[in-house]
Amino acid sequence: MSGVVGRYAPSPSGRMHLGNLCCCLLAWLSAKSKGGRVVLRIEDLDAARCPRQFADLLEADLAWLGLQADEGGSQGGPCGPYYQSERSEIYARFYHILEARGLVYPCFCSRSQLHTADAPHRSDGQVVYAGTCRNLTPEEVRARTRLRAPAWRVRVPDEEIRFVDGHLGPYAENLARDCGDFYLRRADGVYAYQLAVVVDDALMGVTEVVRGADLLSSTPRQLWLYRELGLTAPTFYHMPLLLAPDGRRLSKRDGDESLENLQARYTPEQIIGRLGYLCGLQKAPDPRRPEELLDGFSWDRVPRGDLLLPPGLF
Ligand code: GLU
Repeated sequence: MSGVVGRYAPSPSGRMHLGNLCCCLLAWLSAKSKGGRVVLRIEDLDAARCPRQFADLLEADLAWLGLQADEGGSQGGPCGPYYQSERSEIYARFYHILEARGLVYPCFCSRSQLHTADAPHRSDGQVVYAGTCRNLTPEEVRARTRLRAPAWRVRVPDEEIRFVDGHLGPYAENLARDCGDFYLRRADGVYAYQLAVVVDDALMGVTEVVRGADLLSSTPRQLWLYRELGLTAPTFYHMPLLLAPDGRRLSKRDGDESLENLQARYTPEQIIGRLGYLCGLQKAPDPRRPEELLDGFSWDRVPRGDLLLPPGLF
């Protein structure tokens, strides 16, 4: 064992689609090609949208494909629990570190207040928070709390965070300008993805994160949280997004690309082989087991731009 730890961090709000499968395959290959292991963490922060049977199905699907995790999910392990819905006390500890330093403040803005026509947008399409509630007086906070339960944001500095993505190369964002103060906790008490993912990857000993390029712009925020919380950050590899032949983003709603439908038509080896072909790891879409793609695996072979699903491949 090399000490390399990769992870799957799916949000089980439905069956996996081809993009999710590609991400799992690359995470598995990236860790295993270095002699590492893979942890499965179920990102079910929004427990109502992620019922346990979806998480169980997801594990069964990974096993069917030959991409079982070495630790986590229902098999447990030394860093459990591996379901985010069971980890809120852990998140609270780290939230309080930021709170004690005066970095957390309540935000009473409604969705429509946030989405005004002139609000600047981040590269992931979300609004850069204008800081409306950043400097409320204690009296203002008390008065507003009577009308509405606030969500909680963290104050970010006017600082550029740079990092080198293992696949996409150098990337930088200024936290104040490009990102803005972001949510740590929702009004209903649920901790936000940005905090949970940092705490979990650090406490689960994850050394490399493989995920979709749609999360590239979350990485500066997360790297800043690692630093502020005194945690060790992993290496990041952002993989290209998989687009349907007509150019639209794949989503779990697109039943035709979901594993449920694929399973009816293909063997696991046929799916893995086609995904390997799509990711540049073999010249033809021939059936393969994941281990057969290990030989010669290199991030250099994986395209950097969006991957358009060739018509008829699946
Ligand atoms: N849970 C997220 C998703 O399924 C992934 C988060 C991450 O990889 O950091 O899209």
